Amino acid sequence: GIPVITLDGPGGVGKGTLSRLLARDLGWHLLDSGAIYRTLALAAQRAGLSADKAVALSELARTLPLSFRGGADETHVLLAGELVDAEIRSPEISALTSQIAAIPAVRAALLQRQRDFRQAPGLVADGRDMGTVVFPNAPLKVFLTARAEERGKRRLNQLMEQGISASLATVVAEIAERDARDQQRSVAPLRPAPDARLLDTSEQSVSDTYRVLQSWVQS
Ligand code: C5P
Repeated sequence: GIPVITLDGPGGVGKGTLSRLLARDLGWHLLDSGAIYRTLALAAQRAGLSADKAVALSELARTLPLSFRGGADETHVLLAGELVDAEIRSPEISALTSQIAAIPAVRAALLQRQRDFRQAPGLVADGRDMGTVVFPNAPLKVFLTARAEERGKRRLNQLMEQGISASLATVVAEIAERDARDQQRSVAPLRPAPDARLLDTSEQSVSDTYRVLQSWVQS
C-alpha cells in the first residue's frame, strides 16, 4: 500500500512544522487534520451552531466545502473558496474546535475525508488520532510531547507571526484546557498508539527533533 507516517501529539508541540519538513523532503502529501477540524469550527460559528448541536454539526462535517491549496512548503486552507488560514488559528476557534472534535458523529463524518489524503507516493499525517484511528496500519507512528510551558512559548511565537497578540499565561492556560479536553473525550482521545515512537521535544530544537525523525524514517 501507499506508505503513511503519522505525527500525533498535543498543541504547540511542533507537529505542524515537522510534518511540513518531512512531507517536503520526502516529496509526499501532507494532511493537516487539525485544519479540517478548525475549518469545521469556523463554519459552525458562522452558521450560529453551538457545540451541543451534534446532528447539525455532523451534517456540516459531511458537506463542508473545504479545500487545501499549495504544496508541502506552504499550504492554504479554503472554506468555500475563501482563504481562512488566519481565522481558523484564533484562540476562540481553537477552543470551539476541541469542543466540536469531541463529538463522535463529527469524527465519524470526517474519517473517510482524511483517509482520502493517502495518495502516492506517500502521506505525512499530522493530528491527534492519526496513528490510533485514521491510519492504524501506518508503519511509522510518532508521538511528540513537550512540557506545557514550552508548548505555550512555541504557540505564542506562532500567534505573534500571525499578528495575534496574547500573554504567555493565557496561551499556556488555553493549551492546557484544550489538551485536557482532547485527552478526556470518549472517542479518539489524545494518546500514543501502542506501537508509536515517543519523542519529548522540550529540550530539543526543531532541527534536533527533525534529525531524530529522519533517522526513524530511514530505518
Ligand atoms: O492540531 P491543531 O491544534 O490544529 O488541532 C486543533 C484541535 O482539533 C485539537 O485541539 C483537537 O481538538 C482537534 N483535532 C482532533 N483530531 C485531530 C486533529 C485535531 O481532534 N486529528
